[in-house]
Amino acid sequence: MAAEAARDAQWAFEAYEKVRHRLPEADFPQTSAPAAHLEELAEHFDVFLLDAFGVLNIGEEAIPGVPERIAALQAAGRRIMVVSNAAGYPRRVLMERYARLGYDIAPENILCSREVLLDELSRRPHRRRGLMAPRRHGMEELEHLDAVFLDEDPSAYDEVEEFLLFGSDEWTQEHQALLEASLRRDPRPVLVGNPDIVAPREGGLSREPGHFAHRLADATGVAPEFFGKPFPDIFRMALARLSPAPGARVVMVGDTLQTDILGGRAAGLATALISGYGALAAIDHEAAIRRSGIVPDFILPRP
Ligand SMILES: [Mg+2]
Repeated sequence: MAAEAARDAQWAFEAYEKVRHRLPEADFPQTSAPAAHLEELAEHFDVFLLDAFGVLNIGEEAIPGVPERIAALQAAGRRIMVVSNAAGYPRRVLMERYARLGYDIAPENILCSREVLLDELSRRPHRRRGLMAPRRHGMEELEHLDAVFLDEDPSAYDEVEEFLLFGSDEWTQEHQALLEASLRRDPRPVLVGNPDIVAPREGGLSREPGHFAHRLADATGVAPEFFGKPFPDIFRMALARLSPAPGARVVMVGDTLQTDILGGRAAGLATALISGYGALAAIDHEAAIRRSGIVPDFILPRP
């Protein structure tokens, strides 16, 4: 089990390194400072942008002790915003999840990459769109789009003008093959609402929309457009919504070097890496930092 987790984590790390040419670039500090947990960062920062998977929760379980730590930060006047790439879920589902896990976070303080992609679409012309999205959440928040779910019907792929990748929970190898074949016949825009390659779940790593987007890019030459960490729009939207006072100290906290830490740094923020949960828990995080060159300002063994 431990060996399997280490192999998965190493695979995920290497998968992100392979696509670095499609990710933003940033400068990093020379070294990282240690801290025991999030409350030790309270003296350094006013605003905490928190990744969800690997920081607040693993799958449908809260990381033990973290709801209490977040509550303590809030009680000390620190502002908390969850910045997540979980684009497959409507906000209502995320709200219900965080409440069930024991987090008291206001709706406006949860920013999901789903909103970032929908915001982008609101500025683009009308198009017929094909969806990679779990059917079980229906068209909630997508009602206004002229869109169809993509599944086993090959003609649906050829009929749409643009593809939106929100969530891959119900996506299969067969669907991916149909999408790539259709894009080869007729290249069209692919907009990715969740750039993550994997997510930690109770049973191991799941393949997320970013995995399929990079695969189709390699297979077809179509260059996907990404919305969500580590790309800049989600950080811009978070700061616009929070409108922190001038001089406010903002930190991005996450478990993944190539999404949370790279993205936070590229957006000009301080960063804190959770090393003992999520993406790097099963592997040597110091080796990962050296190999990627992505150096956080702080390293915390736990959130
Ligand atoms: Mg994470």
